[in-house]
Amino acid sequence: DRIITGQPRDEDVEIEGGLRPKWMADYIGQENVKERLNIYITAAKQRNEALDHVLLYGPPGLGKTTLAHIIANEMKGNIRITSGPAIERPGDLAAILTNLSENDVLFIDEIHRLNRTVEEILYPAMEDYALDIIIGKGPSARSIRLELPKFTLIGATTRAGLLTSPLRDRFGVINKLELYTTEQLTYITKRSASLLNVFIEEEGAIEIASRSRGTPRIANRLLKRVRDFAEVKADGRITKKVAIDALQLMEIDYLGLDHVDKKMITTIISNFCGGPVGLDTLAASTGEEKNTIEDVYEPYLLQLGFINRTPRGRIVMEKAYKHFNIPYSE
Ligand code: ADP
Repeated sequence: DRIITGQPRDEDVEIEGGLRPKWMADYIGQENVKERLNIYITAAKQRNEALDHVLLYGPPGLGKTTLAHIIANEMKGNIRITSGPAIERPGDLAAILTNLSENDVLFIDEIHRLNRTVEEILYPAMEDYALDIIIGKGPSARSIRLELPKFTLIGATTRAGLLTSPLRDRFGVINKLELYTTEQLTYITKRSASLLNVFIEEEGAIEIASRSRGTPRIANRLLKRVRDFAEVKADGRITKKVAIDALQLMEIDYLGLDHVDKKMITTIISNFCGGPVGLDTLAASTGEEKNTIEDVYEPYLLQLGFINRTPRGRIVMEKAYKHFNIPYSE
């Protein structure tokens, strides 16, 4: 039950909808991605065509869904949101596709989890805006082709490598979202506070931002919890002290690390002499899911320079020993 992961939690729903930026200009950070998308969007609009299909990948909570909403707004289309595991049968996807209009965005989260028969429906849909339907069975079966409106598929996944290559090849635009800097997260935190009508000091926002592991979803979640603390334990204003006290109570240290990070790092140090240790072994000895370690926990630890991924496994770096006060020897 970790507070500081980018995976969505029920508590996020209450505020997230209202905090999502609606236009490219309000979307903070990811400058390269924005610049490229702005060009493609302008070009598509000038040619009066649908935007090419877009694949967004990166850890959860970095703004993939938000960007899909923004693209739909900028293209003056509607967005239809679904996810890989939610589309069980080819007929489910066919129903969604036939209900789209020109310039609409179909957003499929966790697109790597589509099953194969469903995925095969997508190939002609993406390539030719067509839906191939088989009518009848056995020798009398025949295939008919339905035309689909020119839509844009936006797929989201934690890692591009999880997609099959025929699916990946059908995306014209492939963008990786990066973890945000503390400055960008400070800005996002202040923006969210103002939308929530909460007073926040610059220093209070910095405290929240620097513990948010590069992830806007975590920043917004921590803001919401610090706001509760400020209302109960102070006068409702988020000062530096209020933010620090609230975050300490949540047992999140000044870098945004908690007991799970500590356990992972100390396990590698004490059971595997600091590594290298393979992902499978690490998962088994910490009791955490392999994919969760790789896609959710590790990106931030890698960015901090606390661990390193080598062909032989994970290694704990000297910086992490210092942080957790463990003596380091070469
Ligand atoms: P993902 O789809 O990658 O898991 P979301 O798009 O749902 O992430 O983003 C989670 C929350 O973080 C959103 O509610 C939004 O308010 C906030 N957010 C994400 N990216 C940005 C950004 N670039 N600027 C401002 N807020 C953002």
